[in-house]
Amino acid sequence: MESAAQFILPALPYADNALEPVISANTISFHYGKHHKGYIDNLNKLTAGTEFLGLPLEKIIMGTSGKAEKTAIFNNAAQAWNHAFYWNSLAPKGKGEPPTALKKMIENSFKTVDECKKELASAATTRFGSGWAWLVLDGEKLKVVNTSNAETPLTMGVKPLLTIDVWEHAYYLDYQNRRVDYVNAILDKRINWNFAAENIGL
Ligand code: MN
Repeated sequence: MESAAQFILPALPYADNALEPVISANTISFHYGKHHKGYIDNLNKLTAGTEFLGLPLEKIIMGTSGKAEKTAIFNNAAQAWNHAFYWNSLAPKGKGEPPTALKKMIENSFKTVDECKKELASAATTRFGSGWAWLVLDGEKLKVVNTSNAETPLTMGVKPLLTIDVWEHAYYLDYQNRRVDYVNAILDKRINWNFAAENIGL
């Protein structure tokens, strides 16, 4: 009945083995094919017959954030949004250096690209339990934040630029308990600085 307006799992922006050896096709098959798909499927179930069905995810996230009776919808909409953003935050060829305009902004906010990566690694590895590390634009400044569970900087009045998923399902098959190795491998080899630049409009 509501099929036309149902939420759809967005296509991965690359093949499932494109991030190897940093992230295996096996991890992608579960993380994208089961976890990300699960959030979309749940969201379709939870929003069937409600005013939220088919709305842009950002609208659902803003409309349900902090509302105890809407927690399940918020969690699944936010996780759907966060995961699509995460896939785009990664790049098969690991664009090692940010494009020039972004590099200047990073140097204005963190002094060096290495310092920015260090802050991202720290945010990712110190987040207790499940969550996300983010590079965001706050006014004119770039900042690093982390969020727990499904929480997203969209509700904090800042613009997300990049994210790293630090739920165990993101790395456990490839790195087991070594979250720090997963995070550093992404930052060194697979982070998509071009996506961050696009999000700023550079
Ligand atoms: Mn995940």
